[in-house]
Amino acid sequence: MLVDSLGYKYNIKTDKRRPGTIWRCTQRPFCKAVVNERNGEFSPAHDHVCTANIGLEKVLNIRKEVKAAASKRVFDSAAVITEEVMLASGLAQDVALHPTLPNPKNLARQANYARRHAR
Ligand SMILES: [Zn+2]
Repeated sequence: MLVDSLGYKYNIKTDKRRPGTIWRCTQRPFCKAVVNERNGEFSPAHDHVCTANIGLEKVLNIRKEVKAAASKRVFDSAAVITEEVMLASGLAQDVALHPTLPNPKNLARQANYARRHAR
């Protein structure tokens, strides 16, 4: 999967008749946007008619950071770590507004799970 800086997600489409790679918006068929990748260069074709998942890239990073921090700070509550990471990201205020943002409780649970397996 490909995520661009605007928060659009793409699935890969292989077309053997054409060189390079075609990435199609995951909101297909509703959204016809595609990005052509050739020699490491991305060129978008067709505009999105769907709504970007603003902050999606950030969300993925937060998830990673929380897990990393939780496996280092084994005596701190995962919920506290989650809160700290989200505050630091500047995303915390938007949580209620955006449906794709992680629920802090779920994140904390995931972090606890990752930590258990690190012991
Ligand atoms: Zn789209």
